[in-house]
This record gives sequence, C-alpha cells and structure tokens, in this order.
Amino acid sequence: MKHLVILGAGTAGTMMANHLKKHLKRPEWRISIIDERTEHHYQPGYLFLPFDIYDPEDIVKTIEEFIPKNVNLIQAKIDKIVPAENKVIMTNGTVAIYDVLIIATGARTAPEEIEGMKGEEWQKSVFDFLYL
Ligand SMILES: Cc1cc2nc3c(=O)[nH]c(=O)nc-3n(C[C@H](O)[C@H](O)[C@H](O)COP(=O)(O)OP(=O)(O)OC[C@H]3O[C@@H](n4cnc5c(N)ncnc54)[C@H](O)[C@@H]3O)c2cc1C
Repeated sequence: MKHLVILGAGTAGTMMANHLKKHLKRPEWRISIIDERTEHHYQPGYLFLPFDIYDPEDIVKTIEEFIPKNVNLIQAKIDKIVPAENKVIMTNGTVAIYDVLIIATGARTAPEEIEGMKGEEWQKSVFDFLYL
C-alpha cells in the first residue's frame, strides 16, 4: 500500500484530499492529512465580520467536516520533514512515512525579514512621512 501524506488541512490541503480521494483508490493507496488545528477558517469570510454580514460560526467550522471518509486526519503539530527518509516527524514524536508528500501549510507574513519593515525604524519613517 502506498501512502499519500498531506501537510496542512487548510483550503489547499482539504481540496487536495477531496480531489485525490477520487483517484487514489484503496487498498492501493492510503491518504493522511495532518494539521495541528481542529478548526477550519474560511479566511475570505473575515472581511464580512465587521459588517455583520457573517457571524463567527459562519466562517469557523471543524476541520473534520471537510475531510472525506477514509482519509486519515492526524491532529498534530508538524516539526520537520526528513526527505532522505520520506518521513514527517511531529512534535509529539509520532512519525508518518510517505510515498508522496503534499506540503500545504500555508503562508505567513515575515516583515522582520525585510530591513526597515518592522520596529521603531519603520514607525519613524511613517511618522516622518505623515507629519513633515
Ligand atoms: C481576509 C482574507 C480574505 C481573502 N479573500 C480571498 C478571496 O476572495 N479569494 C481567494 O482566492 N483567496 C482569498 N484569501 C486567501 C485565501 O484564504 C488563502 O490563500 C487560503 O486560505 C490559503 O490556503 P492554504 O491551504 O494555502 O493555507 P491555510 O488555509 O492557511 O492552511 C494552512 C494549514 O496548515 C496548518 N499548519 C501550518 N503549519 C503547521 C504545522 N507546523 N503543523 C501542523 N499544521 C500546520 C495550519 O494549521 C492551517 O490549517 C483571503 C485571505 C484573507 C486573510
């Protein structure tokens, strides 16, 4: 049996699980999806919250309800990938061995990686721009 492991059960990971479940049939394939969260956030919905168009319960659902049957949902924080050994290690010490890996852990902004984008230097330049 081959093992497809998807890291991240956000929009991308959930879509891949639902799509590939139709193509990678058991018993030849097993599919697992790993996420540390229990909640799925429909991020575009955040824009409608301040205007009372959506309530929080409209945009926050459990991850489980979007994961198809027969896909193994693992609730754990991913620590690292060891590509040479085809394995993913979780912070709780558990290990997932994969044949195919999809990384869908999302993105984060990193202003600290751009000189001048964070801290007093940035605030001072905005202040100077606005008030000079
Ligand atoms: C306000 C707002 C409005 C938007 N509007 C639109 C729109 O109109 N149209 C559009 O196309 N897009 C829109 N987007 C963007 C869209 O929501 C994102 O591009 C999309 O959700 C990204 O999906 P993703 O699966 O890549 O990442 P995410 O949905 O962020 O999922 C990543 C998942 O990985 C998990 N994860 C990460 N690291 C670890 C780890 N170490 N261990 C375990 N789990 C981990 C996280 O818990 C998370 O569940 C909007 C976003 C925002 C914030």
